[in-house]
Amino acid sequence: MKLFDLAGRVAAITGGNAGIGFGIAQGLAAAGAAIVIAGRRADKNREAISALVAHDAKAAAFELDVGNEASCRSMIDRTVEQFGRIDILVNNAGIAIRKQPQDYSAAEWNKVIATNLTGAFLCSQAAYAHMQAGGRGKIINIGSMFSIFAAAYAAAYSASKGGIVQMTKALACAWAKDNIQVNAILPGWIDTPLTQSARSEVPGLNERILARTPAGRWGEPRDLAGTAVFLASSASDFVTGAAIPVDGGYSAQG
Ligand code: NDP
Repeated sequence: MKLFDLAGRVAAITGGNAGIGFGIAQGLAAAGAAIVIAGRRADKNREAISALVAHDAKAAAFELDVGNEASCRSMIDRTVEQFGRIDILVNNAGIAIRKQPQDYSAAEWNKVIATNLTGAFLCSQAAYAHMQAGGRGKIINIGSMFSIFAAAYAAAYSASKGGIVQMTKALACAWAKDNIQVNAILPGWIDTPLTQSARSEVPGLNERILARTPAGRWGEPRDLAGTAVFLASSASDFVTGAAIPVDGGYSAQG
């Protein structure tokens, strides 16, 4: 079990106050990591911290807007000030704007790309020097089934999530020499506030997901925890540049 032990490691999770990010935060905390929750809303950040601390985790929250470069740098710096290091960064913050491609404004397109892709790059860049100095690092980027497939209503989201996979590979190649592994998790359809809105906005979505997912159910945020712990721990030291679906078989189904 030592392979998966995260005691003494420090993990920052963007968008860690809800949904998938919080499921991953709980998993990393249970494996022994100190957790930094980083999201825009202070009230949600506080709730997440209270839940982690109630289970004896070491945890702190910093307000973060991944759309703002200074905010990304400040979140990483504050993590290192408070905990002395950063070993694990989970780039999870994400949004979707669902509409036909011809109907996006440039501002809407840019907001999705800035949040889902550029923010992940900026947080990774800010973490790099600290991980390099610490002699190791694990970066986990959250992609999507839309990293592989696409939908008419999700041009900006699909572009951002396709980009996550290629960025993951590029960072993995660049930083392997520093003992920093960079991988992506591609969640299938997970029941969170993000997809609760999709279910109500996209007719027939729920039925299509259930029909295509061999596991026959929506995922829960906790379903992502095991793969996140693996990618955050020494067990994955020779795994880098990979994109691992955690999807109940959705991407295997023809
Ligand atoms: P939620 O809407 O439940 O959570 C999104 C999180 O991102 C919140 O914690 C939110 O916190 C944070 N966030 C949003 N914008 C910003 C920002 N500008 N700066 C910092 N934090 C931000 O979504 P999910 O848990 O479903 O999604 C999490 C990730 O997983 C996303 O990247 C999503 O694309 C991806 N994903 C989700 C799937 C699903 O089925 N649910 C499937 C595949 C991928 P706050 O509002 O406080 O900022």
